[in-house]
Amino acid sequence: MPRILIIEDEPKVAEFLQLGLREVEFEVQWAASGEDGLTCLLENQPDAVVLDLNLPGRDGLDILSTLRKHHEQLPVLILSARDAVDDRVTGLELGADDYMIKPFAFPELVARLKVMLRRENQGNVYAFELADLSIDIISRQVKRGSKSINLTPREFEILELLFRNLKRPVSRKTIARDVWKVERATPLDNVIDVHVMRLRKKIDEDSELKLIQTIRGLGFMLSDEEQE
Ligand code: CA
Repeated sequence: MPRILIIEDEPKVAEFLQLGLREVEFEVQWAASGEDGLTCLLENQPDAVVLDLNLPGRDGLDILSTLRKHHEQLPVLILSARDAVDDRVTGLELGADDYMIKPFAFPELVARLKVMLRRENQGNVYAFELADLSIDIISRQVKRGSKSINLTPREFEILELLFRNLKRPVSRKTIARDVWKVERATPLDNVIDVHVMRLRKKIDEDSELKLIQTIRGLGFMLSDEEQE
């Protein structure tokens, strides 16, 4: 089920969107400000974002440029009452994938979201590399340098999830949902930590460059760059 994050300050619009999108089997989350939206993005890794522009606090375009720094590929549809050509051009230049003007036709919004999600899925990758670490999703092979690494199925899925969110923190909640297929993470936190610890041992122990990083308060991240 695709997960959509709605960043929209107008409760009526947000409610309308949530109800409608749930009806077409999307999982929906709502953030009433851009800042909340960015937090939500980190915690829940949605598949696409519907972004309003006139928001309290930071403007939607400002939020979009922050979002793009860490989520290059995430489909974003701007849904705004602003119909000026300038806003549209700026939005698209900042990396929005689509732009719709309010009032809007709901079926059209759904159709456009589906197109964006399809485009995103075509980019599906079955092999990843970072520094001298490589992983093949089909053959389930993992290598660090020339050395093959044996992972348990859970460890493999965690590593795959980290690769699919490369250089972005992945929360324990997301790991619980995507690897253990359970919604609530808290009772699982220790189990997840143990698995990540074992995974890290296998991946990083013999190498100078540590790739699996703990991001305090957020979760874990796969990166070859040192954190501040
Ligand atoms: Ca608004």
